[in-house]
Amino acid sequence: MSLIHVVQNKCPKCHQGQVFSTNNLLTFRPATMKESCAHCGHNFSKEPGFYWGAMYVSYALATFEMAVVYAICILIFKFDALAISNLIASIVVVLGLFPFNFRMARLLWLYLFSGVVE
Ligand SMILES: [Zn+2]
Repeated sequence: MSLIHVVQNKCPKCHQGQVFSTNNLLTFRPATMKESCAHCGHNFSKEPGFYWGAMYVSYALATFEMAVVYAICILIFKFDALAISNLIASIVVVLGLFPFNFRMARLLWLYLFSGVVE
């Protein structure tokens, strides 16, 4: 698994076709996922409910982002460690990054369980 291919929205098998219809990671339109790779035909929808597990990846991404924003508030902006503004800033950033997290979680989940051994 190459992280560069995940970020570039490439197929886990051939690294040529796209998984989502657009490469823009920060679009606020709902991300449309293709059923299969246009280049090699690799099936992106393994089974019903396959992407439910991507919620765990999304949770980990959001937790990491909240921790980074919280640390930035304390270390750079010198906010009090227990200030509510740290929590509010973290929540705003994670909500703003929701489209990014949604796509990255699904792509990482697909790469983890694509069954392609390199
Ligand atoms: Zn492919």
